[in-house]
Amino acid sequence: MTSDLLQVRTWGTRGSLPVSGPEFVEFGGSTTCIEVRCGDHVLLFDAGSGLLPAGRALKAEGVKRSHLFFTHCHYDHIMGLPYYGGLFDPAATVDLWSGHMAGQMTTTDILKSFMRPPFFPVTPDICPARIQCHDFGAGEVLQPEEGITLQTGRLSHPGGAVGYRIGWHGRTVAIITDTEHDPGVLDPAILALIEGVDLFLYDACYTEAEMGLFRGFGHSSWQQALLLAQAAGAARVGMMHHAPWRTDAALRAMEDEAQAIFPGAFFARDGQLIRP
Ligand SMILES: [Zn+2]
Ligand SMILES: [Zn+2]
Repeated sequence: MTSDLLQVRTWGTRGSLPVSGPEFVEFGGSTTCIEVRCGDHVLLFDAGSGLLPAGRALKAEGVKRSHLFFTHCHYDHIMGLPYYGGLFDPAATVDLWSGHMAGQMTTTDILKSFMRPPFFPVTPDICPARIQCHDFGAGEVLQPEEGITLQTGRLSHPGGAVGYRIGWHGRTVAIITDTEHDPGVLDPAILALIEGVDLFLYDACYTEAEMGLFRGFGHSSWQQALLLAQAAGAARVGMMHHAPWRTDAALRAMEDEAQAIFPGAFFARDGQLIRP
């Protein structure tokens, strides 16, 4: 009997490259991996290096079924995939989903072209778990399990990326990474995904002051996240995809600034549990 529990665990909140060291203890250094638990159903978003601790925790809990949705397949969002414990459990089933390359590359192609020599010692055939690959197009509404509504939408990122809005028993969470905004413009595709949400996580890789230096890299700012949150009537917004150079002290200072403007804002930490 599955419950109406909805909870989010941010296993990896760093963007671009994993980092470690004394300056990255509080927020952590693992790249993007977000777990959304809908009752007993386990949904994972992205397979960054945060997928390693996620897999360990799921194994300890005895979870045998998980769905993994890719926002896109840049390295920081897939590098943890071959280290996901679920793939090495013969009793487990792992569903992989992608939609950012619809019509160009299937989820199976992405998996096989990433896990292979000379980039990796073995191919996915070595994994004893049952792997089921699914393809969709951005804009489709998915129903990976009974009672879960998963809206998808196209983000603005080189090579494409998909944003997700998860609905479960009347509560909603959205994951919006990676995406770049045009100055002064609120992306209607994003507004549609975050309208009235209880929580959304957002690509806040840069500050607004840095945006000019990194045009075309496909990322956004925490200031833009606040504008989106206010326009969409979102209750909370969690910043993620922290730049690899952003220290704990810098992130804490930005969090203080953001909360002074929008009390529901925070900067996500690796391993943080959120009940929206
Ligand atoms: Zn990224
Ligand atoms: Zn990317």
